[in-house]
Amino acid sequence: MDLFEYQARELFARHGVPVLDAAVVSDPESAQTAAELLGGRVVVKAQVKTGGRGKAGGVKLAAHPGEAVAAAQAILGMDIKGHTVGKVMLAQTADIAEEFYASYLLDRTNRTWLAMASAEGGMDIEEVAATKPEALARIPVDPVEGVTEAVARDIAAAAGLPPETAPALVALWEVFTAEDAVLVEVNPLVRTTDGRILAIDGKVTLDDNARGRHPQHDAYDVPGEGGDLESQARAKGLNYVKLDGSVGIIGNGAGLVMSTLDVVARNGADPANFLDIGGGASAQVMADGLGVILSDADVKSVFVNVFGGITACDAVANGIVQALDQVELTKPLVVRLDGNNAAAGREILDGAAHPLVTRLDTMDGAAARAAELALAGS
Ligand code: GDP
Ligand code: MN
Repeated sequence: MDLFEYQARELFARHGVPVLDAAVVSDPESAQTAAELLGGRVVVKAQVKTGGRGKAGGVKLAAHPGEAVAAAQAILGMDIKGHTVGKVMLAQTADIAEEFYASYLLDRTNRTWLAMASAEGGMDIEEVAATKPEALARIPVDPVEGVTEAVARDIAAAAGLPPETAPALVALWEVFTAEDAVLVEVNPLVRTTDGRILAIDGKVTLDDNARGRHPQHDAYDVPGEGGDLESQARAKGLNYVKLDGSVGIIGNGAGLVMSTLDVVARNGADPANFLDIGGGASAQVMADGLGVILSDADVKSVFVNVFGGITACDAVANGIVQALDQVELTKPLVVRLDGNNAAAGREILDGAAHPLVTRLDTMDGAAARAAELALAGS
């Protein structure tokens, strides 16, 4: 789960990463009092789960509360890379002398934790990595030793950061490990003109597999906020994964879903996402699943591939038919049912005769049809 900046900031404060006071508001009027309480001069920042807010006009300095209201007015409702701004954070401002970059992440390829740091902070770090790779230090972190003050000083030295950043780097490591994050990033970490080190921006991605250890993180999972279909699906107890193609996929069981992705790919289209409905395919599960899949704007066709086992195909077919009463089908749907009670299930679907639903007997045939419909709709 990706966090909003204001949520990341809260975790920073809890573990001693230096941040300035801030408040979150969702209407411009509230910005007046919030700015007054923060001392008048504030920076107003769009809360969206995407970077580059500054460049998009989503970060504005305000010299007094009146300007903060105007800034909040301008930023709330703004669209930043497809994310609508529903909240702004008001924060005390810093007089920035230098901007740095610092992060910890899980490096899956090298099976290690990695520190990345750069003296070229404030800007797009992907661009620094691409155009000036030597300016981005990458230092593996020993999981047993972690980031001690001495290790932090080594990271700072390797990246060209001043040694005064070391305590902030240690505290950031605390956030990473204590909260079970897979990414913590500060860009920029700044040195102010009066010599203080401060985290001005924050990004945190929590490890969803560790959710059970952190019940307090549930408060960060706000369904419908942040345009995050994954969290909406999770709230409904569904396993949904976003990919970057155009065929939406619903299947039962991890093995069948994985092979469905392959068969769709072999037929020339890429999956837009997939959703494993597991053993249960009630009308509600189907309606929730179709609702999530159809909310993904990349989806041009949907392929439901179910092999009836404990859940019989007639139950799945009834689930699909009832789901189509609850969810408006906006894209063509291809269904393949096989296994337990397949004949009865197929009959139910054929009987419903929904104009956007195609039923096919074989997995390969259905995948080919779904791929063809997706390509025609793209
Ligand atoms: P991003 O564009 O989404 O990464 O948002 P940031 O929070 O990183 O803000 C973008 C830029 O705004 C930063 O790199 C800073 O240069 C600037 N900025 C943010 N807060 C302050 C502040 O308090 N004072 C000053 N002078 N600049 C700020
Ligand atoms: Mn930033």
